[in-house]
Amino acid sequence: MGKDFIAINLFGMIIVRKGRFLSADSILHERIHTAQMKEMLFVFFYLWYVTEWLVRMLWCFSAQKAYWRISFEREAYDNEGNPGYLQHRKLFAWMKYL
Ligand SMILES: [Zn+2]
Repeated sequence: MGKDFIAINLFGMIIVRKGRFLSADSILHERIHTAQMKEMLFVFFYLWYVTEWLVRMLWCFSAQKAYWRISFEREAYDNEGNPGYLQHRKLFAWMKYL
């Protein structure tokens, strides 16, 4: 999900904006988020996501910069170009981006 978002992942269901299509990288990006959601039992993913975003905003005073620094996003952007990533991903892999 980004500034000009074309897709949103709600509890593992990826909703794409009308008339837009996701690239293979974006699909993997969203699937990485789904893996993060499952290990966080969904509700804690959203709680952590919003909390980390707010805390990071206190540091950089920019909603967009804070978004790029969220651990869930950094794991997803770092690995969206690696098609085999989910097969060997370790549980809570996003924590190394904290
Ligand atoms: Zn994302």
